[in-house]
Amino acid sequence: MSEYRHDLVTGQWVIVASNRGERPDEFVETVFERINQDCPFCSGREDDTPPEVARYQLRRTKGWQVRVVPNKYPAVTTSAPPPPPTLSLPAQSGFGVHEVVIESPEHVTSLTELSAEATTLVFRAYADRLAALRKRGDLAYGVVFKNVGASAGASLEHVHSQVLATALVPPPIEQRLARWQQEFQRTDSSVLLRFIQEELAQPQRVIQQTDNFAAVCPFASRVPYEMRIVPLAPRVYFEQSTAAELDELAKLVRDVLTRLEQITNRMAYNLIIHTAPFDSAPHDYYHWHIEILPRLTRAAGFEWGTGCFINPLTPENAAQRLRDA
Ligand SMILES: [Zn+2]
Repeated sequence: MSEYRHDLVTGQWVIVASNRGERPDEFVETVFERINQDCPFCSGREDDTPPEVARYQLRRTKGWQVRVVPNKYPAVTTSAPPPPPTLSLPAQSGFGVHEVVIESPEHVTSLTELSAEATTLVFRAYADRLAALRKRGDLAYGVVFKNVGASAGASLEHVHSQVLATALVPPPIEQRLARWQQEFQRTDSSVLLRFIQEELAQPQRVIQQTDNFAAVCPFASRVPYEMRIVPLAPRVYFEQSTAAELDELAKLVRDVLTRLEQITNRMAYNLIIHTAPFDSAPHDYYHWHIEILPRLTRAAGFEWGTGCFINPLTPENAAQRLRDA
């Protein structure tokens, strides 16, 4: 089977071409090896990271459970000088904030190895950091992301995520948001809300649902086992989630990652938390969400050349396997 599918949310087209092999085992080339490396994120090595900006403790314990530190090798900084005025090509200073969320004092490599309480604390840290960066007033956009496995961009295996806030809204996101705004004016409903309502109406791509969230393999999944986690009611700002919502969400993310790991142990993946831009404009068209993109396949010539992904596993099949896991 080969089919062009359009994603309401990203605006991207994908080619679902399951004739290229329904067995994703054929594509398991990016699974990562555990390496016993000298680890600056382990407890006892706190002096090897820049001074922390936040720390979280579990109840009834001593010592930290989650630490947030500035990235030692940041992509953007608050002290970036303006670029030399020799070029006429557009450029501006790399102003921004780049932080690391260290998610356990122990040397564990997956969120699924943490207790439920510790996982909730990690999500609390994400929300707090986004709220703090929004409050600064000098940043335009913030994103939380997790790279697991070298092929997903991780340089350290110790369980961690990154928070990166930029001085401008990345242009592809800006285009996406302009489209969402138009759709909101046209339909009076957010694109994400319509997306999740459509998915729940025909639940063959639903992996798991809780009181307030659903996890699905999107209709136009770009890669095998792509997952999208969406609040069922309109929610603009991830960082305004209540403690109960963060607790429920953390459990759901842990559950779906456990399912993924049961299909292929140590699968490399990226997890991304999208929230509304930091400007003060009304964002009623916005709906926060989480994307999980496993790295079983590689973006190759067609993907780089067209921006259009070829997915060899139908999302219906992927969701079935994840439900059964
Ligand atoms: Zn470690």
